[in-house]
Amino acid sequence: MYAFDYQRAGDAQGAVKAIAADADAKFLAGGQSLLAAMKLRLAQPSTLVDVTRIPELKTISVDGKVVKIGAAVCHADVAANAPIQNALPGLAQLAAHIGDRQVRALGTLGGSLANDDPAADYPAAVLGLGATVVTDRRRIAADDFFLGMYETALEPDELIVAVEFPVPERSAYEKFRNPASHFALTGVFVAQFASGVRVAVTGAAPSVFRATALETALTASFTAQAARAVTIGADGLNGDLHASPEYRAHLIPVLAARAVTKALG
Ligand SMILES: Cc1cc2nc3c(=O)[nH]c(=O)nc-3n(C[C@H](O)[C@H](O)[C@H](O)COP(=O)(O)OP(=O)(O)OC[C@H]3O[C@@H](n4cnc5c(N)ncnc54)[C@H](O)[C@@H]3O)c2cc1C
Repeated sequence: MYAFDYQRAGDAQGAVKAIAADADAKFLAGGQSLLAAMKLRLAQPSTLVDVTRIPELKTISVDGKVVKIGAAVCHADVAANAPIQNALPGLAQLAAHIGDRQVRALGTLGGSLANDDPAADYPAAVLGLGATVVTDRRRIAADDFFLGMYETALEPDELIVAVEFPVPERSAYEKFRNPASHFALTGVFVAQFASGVRVAVTGAAPSVFRATALETALTASFTAQAARAVTIGADGLNGDLHASPEYRAHLIPVLAARAVTKALG
């Protein structure tokens, strides 16, 4: 590690002001990605602006239609929150299976979304539910937020304050996890709304994406059989030492079918 300054922000405006004042400064949440990147010299910020003590970023609110989660809420708190478990069981289950206990105690919703790792779990929920990312200056629809590998619509000095998840009729998440890190080799989030079904896939491509063939099939028939009958092409999917593009393509309808079964209870 090398020398850097540390500032603890008390509110969102203060955090953004500190970042805007220094082109090499970065927001710090739980440090679960950023500190590892700094140790590897992949990131060398001059100042870290800690956003984990900003009250606005730590709140959770749940009503019949929307679950709103502050950006600095850690995964363990989402997993253990009873109102979220009732309103959005798919999201609570997703959070409960991120990484290990230490990662879930420190890693945050906002950090995960800003980092936008192609194998991260939360992007599947955000896109699958058609959530809205609320920042210090605007509201960004999920469909416009994820731009590519580790690339989002955020400006360099833009702070995620919260995420608003609409409550669907049913939802569930299934992932085939990397046994070492627990990141998604492939993960599928399925959400059934009165207006239709949304399906988002993470881990399989350079960035999270919507599986429109599955959405069409499941809007017509919300059954595991309908999901299993869909074929996904391997073009553009990731291939690495863990799995080929063809294997990931095969996993997508399999995991979608499991998610539908889980969502149907
Ligand atoms: C061993 C290990 C296993 C893991 N397994 C999984 C897994 O199975 N599934 C999974 O999804 N993830 C996994 N993760 C990632 C983890 O869940 C964290 O969410 C992720 O690393 C982000 O960490 P963080 O919240 O601490 O953010 P940080 O590391 O502090 O920050 C990450 C990036 O986000 C920016 N940032 C942070 N907060 C904000 C904000 N509010 N607004 C704008 N930018 C912000 C920072 O500047 C930085 O660029 C794993 C991580 C580790 C170390």
